[in-house]
Amino acid sequence: MLEDKNTQKTSLAELGEFGLINHITKYFKLQNPSSIKGIGDDAAVIDASEKQTLVTTDLLIEGVHFDLSYMPLKHLGYKAVMINLSDVYAMNGVAEQITVSIAVSNRFPLEAIEELYAGIQLACETYQVDLIGGDTTSSTKGMLISITAIGKAAKEDIVYRNTAKETDLIVVSGDLGAAYLGLQVLEREKQVFKVDPNNQPDLDNYTYLIERQLKPEARKDIAALLKELDIKPTSMIDISDGLSSEVMHICSQSKVGCKIYEDKLPLDPQVISTCEEFELDSTMVALSGGEDYELLFTVPIADFDKIKGNPNFSVVGHITAENQGLNLVTRAGQEIALKAQGWNALKDN
Ligand SMILES: [Mg+2]
Repeated sequence: MLEDKNTQKTSLAELGEFGLINHITKYFKLQNPSSIKGIGDDAAVIDASEKQTLVTTDLLIEGVHFDLSYMPLKHLGYKAVMINLSDVYAMNGVAEQITVSIAVSNRFPLEAIEELYAGIQLACETYQVDLIGGDTTSSTKGMLISITAIGKAAKEDIVYRNTAKETDLIVVSGDLGAAYLGLQVLEREKQVFKVDPNNQPDLDNYTYLIERQLKPEARKDIAALLKELDIKPTSMIDISDGLSSEVMHICSQSKVGCKIYEDKLPLDPQVISTCEEFELDSTMVALSGGEDYELLFTVPIADFDKIKGNPNFSVVGHITAENQGLNLVTRAGQEIALKAQGWNALKDN
């Protein structure tokens, strides 16, 4: 897991910037009719049609957002795309194009960049988005990746953060906390490896957690699932920094309060068992873990029957009046103020 598997090494300087761009983009094919012109001119051309355009950008920096000692480059490429698509899906839109810009130091050979782009390409094919541009340049230290995703949605379909209403139900897709625990497991193995490089880690008990950390999937499917159920969320956001922090964005922007019920938080069995092993509070991990890339949304209370019992969704609480604040109702029935700390805060503890 932790050793360098790159055996063949081709210097990036040999290819030059344009040679590199041609090399890494030759396998990408445009899939969307709205992608009029991709790579190869001064700017890409997108057919804006009659819909509204969604644009989102993310910047990832080696040593801050990812650690290449346990993050394979192909996974990093895939995940970097997911992070951006997730934001488009959180607006209830369809992602159709991305641009990818990277800066790499001379410690990366061509084969490493190929791996990164293999992950980006897999994401593009799986999620039907087109790579239409970007930039490659050198950095003095480490790797930086910036991706912009472009999507579209009909004006009436877009779901914002500032439109949750009092009494709405708060719903999350999937389960919470696994990606954060996956990171804890990988960090622990990294430390073990430092001490004993011959130690082969046994990761069988953590497969789901590690997959959620290394190969997250953006919830492209949720829009269709909600349409099938005839539900339009009143507000929506994706869970990148942990449930607490995301629900706080919705509440502050919608000028409402909320109650989240501890016993309703969706936890995978591996999350529960690994929390016990690491002596972590599973509620804390679910609320503040981050990197789940699930969707958090609110629906009118009248939609409860449509959503209850659906295995894709968990009703975790409801919206209240603003003056009631943001609260967590514990298993014991006690109400405590919800702390809005993202996973970075948790990491510092
Ligand atoms: Mg977001």
